[in-house]
Amino acid sequence: MKKVLILEDEVNIRSFVVINLKRAGYDAIEAGTGMEALERLKEHPDIGVAILDIMLPDIDGFEVCRNIRATNKQIGIIMLTARTQEMDKVTGLMTGADDYVTKPFSPAELTARIDALYRRIGGDKAETELLSHGPFVMNVRNRTLEKDGERIRLTQVEYSILKLFMQNPGRALSREDVLTAVWGRDYDGELKIVDVNIRRLRIKIEDDATTPKYITTVWGFGYKWGA
Ligand code: CA
Repeated sequence: MKKVLILEDEVNIRSFVVINLKRAGYDAIEAGTGMEALERLKEHPDIGVAILDIMLPDIDGFEVCRNIRATNKQIGIIMLTARTQEMDKVTGLMTGADDYVTKPFSPAELTARIDALYRRIGGDKAETELLSHGPFVMNVRNRTLEKDGERIRLTQVEYSILKLFMQNPGRALSREDVLTAVWGRDYDGELKIVDVNIRRLRIKIEDDATTPKYITTVWGFGYKWGA
């Protein structure tokens, strides 16, 4: 069963999340303090996604996030932010979170975000293990990319976008296609996030990012892998 950690000191909210996680088929691991969350993660190294509240009695959610990221790049992290604290979203993403959900949230919204993250980190066993194209070899099991035998370090999002392209060579993908495939159907963020990530990806993988030949632009539509 897929494990999700829920760190929240308010018992009512935590129970509400736990009930809904169970209903969605997840195994919920609970923590009421930051230290407890770090302990639980040590006990259950197979936790795939962690939901972190920010305001906590001991170390805050940002600190917990930083702590987790120091040793674990793979786990998906969702911050629970208060509606009034707009800055929390930015701070959360800067400390290494993948996503955030604003309180009060609906169970459907939260589980959709978790599903999306699990899909991203999941590595479906039925998948082909290696994707290759030109100088690139992507190992789907290890989530690594090499160009001419040299490892290129990608963020989770960059990896997911590139994998989508490599699985669809020569096919024009709209920015909406990329957003849906990588962030999930219920993601309500802006399309611009796709362009920003592609700009970063091009810098990492292209021979010359100003004249991309691998991730090409399809004017007025989106992007394509290969010319
Ligand atoms: Ca709290």
